[in-house]
Amino acid sequence: MHGSIAELDRGNLAPLARLAMMMRTESAALRAMILEDFIRQPCRAGPPPPHCWAVCPYCLAVDVEQGRAPYVRRTWTHPLAVYCALHRAPLVPHGNSDIKIASELTLFGDLQPYEPRDNLLDRSHFDARELILHTIDVLEDSTKVDERDRLTDAVSDIVDALATNMYTPNSGVAIRLIEAPVMRRRSLPGSNELPEKWWLDVNARERLLYVRMALLFLSEPAHPPRSSDKGPFGANWFANRYAKNYVGWVSCAMEDPLLLLATELPRSAVSTMNYRSFAWPKRLRQRWSSAVSAAILWATSAVPAAGGST
Ligand SMILES: [Zn+2]
Repeated sequence: MHGSIAELDRGNLAPLARLAMMMRTESAALRAMILEDFIRQPCRAGPPPPHCWAVCPYCLAVDVEQGRAPYVRRTWTHPLAVYCALHRAPLVPHGNSDIKIASELTLFGDLQPYEPRDNLLDRSHFDARELILHTIDVLEDSTKVDERDRLTDAVSDIVDALATNMYTPNSGVAIRLIEAPVMRRRSLPGSNELPEKWWLDVNARERLLYVRMALLFLSEPAHPPRSSDKGPFGANWFANRYAKNYVGWVSCAMEDPLLLLATELPRSAVSTMNYRSFAWPKRLRQRWSSAVSAAILWATSAVPAAGGST
């Protein structure tokens, strides 16, 4: 084909003509299978199928029931897509699904068949429900291109932040801030520098996990009187971490989880995030800049509870 099928899915049209010839079909028919966002803005190819595939098991079951070959929906290839719009259920890595898009021979050839799976991704109790519905809305509505691009940039940048090692040596990768309380497990190793669009290069399993965790950071902070909810970051995370000495005052705070990233990321990563956040939705950019200001005040205050920052 002179190129990978994963590359074609991300908007690189170079292999299109040759593939159309091989399949004895029209180029236009194949082009129509590629997400419009990628044709507008081609991105680097991800891992090859089946590792790049996120699927809705309910949609695949409907395909089988109705007697057609199960197939990957175009919207599922968008990096922001983590839920099925039809079933309002989490997308899962192809490895999680009992119904397969193609046979082992097609997918793996002579290689030993292996697919990553993650059973925690079948569950949804921890998700930022409102923001998940918003992502479905901007992905489905063809008139919301600008809103979709801005939200995509914000989530992509938070995913990059979550894949970065934290400022304090040996404290690990930033996704631990949320993966430990929600999932109670170890995280993948992180990178020392802030990556750029890390989600394009990883398997669907990692992408789905990191995007759903990023949406928890971006969801609107709970109003303080509701802070008796345990929430995904653990009970009283804000007071325990930032306000041990100001018990009375802390009830006034908007407990924005973006503050966790602003205080824990390396300074160079915070600075790069400041620059990138110009492309975010306005409201999220405002929250990020407030979080960075609060992080600076916290780190430079004389309060001894300021955990190791000098
Ligand atoms: Zn579905």
